Amino acid sequence: MNNKLKIAVVGAGASGMVAALTAAGYGAEVTLFEKKDRVGKKILSTGNGKCNLGNLNFSTEQYYCRDKKKLHKMFCLFSVWDSLSFFESIGLMVKNKNDYLYPRSEQASAVLDVLRMELIRRKVHIATETEITKAVYCKDGKCFRLTDFMGKTCSFQKVIIACGSPASLKQGDGLGGYKLAKELGHTIRQIMPGLVQLRSDERFLKALSGVRVQAGIHLLVNEREEDYEAGELQFTDYGISGIPVFQFSRIAAYALNEKKNVKVIIDFFPEQEEKCFTVLCRLRYESQAGKSIEEYLTGTTNKKINMVMIKQAGLKPGTKVEEAGWPVIWKLMRQYRTFVIHISGVNPMENAQVCAGGVDFGQVNVNLESEIVKGLYFAGEVLDVDGKCGGYNLQWAWTSGYIAGRNAAEGFTEKNTEGGKNQKTVSKDKEKC
Ligand SMILES: Cc1cc2nc3c(=O)[nH]c(=O)nc-3n(C[C@H](O)[C@H](O)[C@H](O)COP(=O)(O)OP(=O)(O)OC[C@H]3O[C@@H](n4cnc5c(N)ncnc54)[C@H](O)[C@@H]3O)c2cc1C
Repeated sequence: MNNKLKIAVVGAGASGMVAALTAAGYGAEVTLFEKKDRVGKKILSTGNGKCNLGNLNFSTEQYYCRDKKKLHKMFCLFSVWDSLSFFESIGLMVKNKNDYLYPRSEQASAVLDVLRMELIRRKVHIATETEITKAVYCKDGKCFRLTDFMGKTCSFQKVIIACGSPASLKQGDGLGGYKLAKELGHTIRQIMPGLVQLRSDERFLKALSGVRVQAGIHLLVNEREEDYEAGELQFTDYGISGIPVFQFSRIAAYALNEKKNVKVIIDFFPEQEEKCFTVLCRLRYESQAGKSIEEYLTGTTNKKINMVMIKQAGLKPGTKVEEAGWPVIWKLMRQYRTFVIHISGVNPMENAQVCAGGVDFGQVNVNLESEIVKGLYFAGEVLDVDGKCGGYNLQWAWTSGYIAGRNAAEGFTEKNTEGGKNQKTVSKDKEKC
């Protein structure tokens, strides 16, 4: 008779695959359910097809989460260093590009392939094209009954919900994990698109569409500064995009949802200290005498930006610099550091890389076991935890997948472990914890 603990993992994304092979590594009999025809499809589109799977510049500051202490404990249990040794142990060579971690091949498919091969090696039962639509906990039998979309039912002693989120999916898709969690008594914190573009009705955007520029961007909600990010800003005909915009987009999304006033203030000279900037502009004013305003601005920033600045200042491009005078030129140059864009919305979930909100993080313990239903675990983006751009969301998927898989499998001992973590490696984070 097979006495193995039977565990179901619902959702074969990044977190579900790691949860499944960790639990199998600790001796459980694991079935991994996936509603799509293949496992781990989302991984293929990560990092523009290169998969930014982690980041050595790590801290919980990179995450939005209601309980950072609990989150920190989890990253001590399975850190970025543990992910590195885990991936190396299953055959993936990883490269470090300024702390950003990628597969050495720069192919996201390599990450998926090593995970898939390891699932097979650890004899995880993989059930694709099987959407789990119902989960019931039977108190008498102390088991979970899972029902798929065809009405077929199976029983398991433990269940891990790793269904991901609606981010990047068609409208209405990706809500299944929340439904299962809700039916099992959990609260779902309001979901919002995260890592997404911001929309604006400003007229000048059409003229700036396509421009990419290094900038510093302040995010203001009801006139209060909430965040500052620097990096490559991209203008589109409907608004603004780029990594710095993605980083604070979820703050904007929640604020707009609460009908708050949201705007960004752009600094097109983020590398300049104010004093140096004043001297620079003044010296230019003197050395470029005889030129028109348009010519004076040539060579400072992108031409399309210069033209919008001239128009916003109510000036004519052909006016001579000395005719305009220093106070007017200085006012024009100040505009480059305080350029305001009023934000009217965020792009929909379909365009988002991640989803903010989800299953209440307060309803799971540090082992990622539900505080409401014993034997039920959660992993990945289905939970109310989301990270910034830079490999932090996949890191959360690996960490939470490992913790849920290991704890669901119980019976963890150093001898029987193949659960994914190289026990001989003392993680650097662990030393810190
Ligand atoms: C375009 C894009 C680029 C990204 N790039 C990066 C990056 O470079 N670095 C980074 O860190 N993060 C990146 N992310 C975010 C990262 O991909 C996700 O945070 C991560 O994949 C979440 O993993 P998950 O396991 O929680 O969910 P998912 O990967 O979404 O997996 C959930 C799985 O569950 C399945 N499922 C759902 N419901 C059911 C059900 N009821 N029954 C059976 N199966 C079900 C789904 O089909 C899916 O396969 C990116 C996201 C996108 C969209």
